[in-house]
Amino acid sequence: MFDTAIAGSLPKPSWLAEPEKLWPEWRSGGAELDRAKTDATLLWLKIQEDAGLDIVGDGEQSRQHFVHGFLARVEGIDFEHKVKMGIRNNRYDAMVPQVVGPLRLGGRVHATEARLARAHTGQRLKFTLPGPMTIVDTVADRFYGEGKESRIKLAFAFAELLNQEARALEADGVDIVQFDEPAFNVYMADAAEWGVAALERAAEGLTCKTAVHICYGYGIKANIDWKAGLGGEWRQYEQVFPALAKSRIDQVSLECFHSHVPPDLMRLLEGKDVMVGVIDVASDTVETPEEIAETIGKVLRFVPKERFIACTNCGLAPMRREVAEAKLAALGKGAALARQRFA
Ligand code: ZN
Repeated sequence: MFDTAIAGSLPKPSWLAEPEKLWPEWRSGGAELDRAKTDATLLWLKIQEDAGLDIVGDGEQSRQHFVHGFLARVEGIDFEHKVKMGIRNNRYDAMVPQVVGPLRLGGRVHATEARLARAHTGQRLKFTLPGPMTIVDTVADRFYGEGKESRIKLAFAFAELLNQEARALEADGVDIVQFDEPAFNVYMADAAEWGVAALERAAEGLTCKTAVHICYGYGIKANIDWKAGLGGEWRQYEQVFPALAKSRIDQVSLECFHSHVPPDLMRLLEGKDVMVGVIDVASDTVETPEEIAETIGKVLRFVPKERFIACTNCGLAPMRREVAEAKLAALGKGAALARQRFA
């Protein structure tokens, strides 16, 4: 009746990287690290399948961070000299690499983990990449210049590289390529004006499904504090959804459970598949199947069953592994209950 999926990232086991961190250090290097990444990817595929999820992913086990994992293979970026920069409109500081020259992809970015995942699961496979606008918000530019026009140029330069990798992922057998654009919820006017166009450039020519994930961020303190100041109704999506509805992107992943997003905003996504967050990533409390089925019931008033996908609000990367595992299992059970109830 409807599918289940996760937004993207999952916690890295403590033998792979430092747990509960957004930018964790790897535990090993070289061939040992490669092996550990492979093992962690296989482990999470199994856990997602056991939870009964219909659409699975690599859990981003092979990248340190959802944006910088992609940038590591981009020429024209200086990773040696990271600088501190306020990101997401200065919501929090991050150490970010710098754009210092013309951008070029130095080869495949995610071939190993995409092919590995494809070889080891019969489920539909989703693969995530950062969106162009979010990349621009997570690097320091020293080459393209000041001002809005330069930011747009930089975003489209990244979009072209993302498109190369996305096409290659499709050839690897990936069923859904998803671009993560939390920045859409921060710079709403820019997102509608040029962010969606840059996103479409990144997805150009793909024949597999395409998706965008827009959230209020990982469950870290800076984000929780920011959300607390957003008021009783979060209407950020209202500014971006109309542009997305007109775009060629097939699916939109959004935050719902425990958020103050008015669910009727989902009506603005008519014609799109809607991945609705029914799992909170900012709380260690594991949702009950009943709670999940209830959330799904509320959402089905605004999203047709055949367009609905039960999902997590965001990635689970900084969570405790045990909590994430329990939340995946709950997602599977809650969706099963909702399928019975709302069939
Ligand atoms: Zn997210």
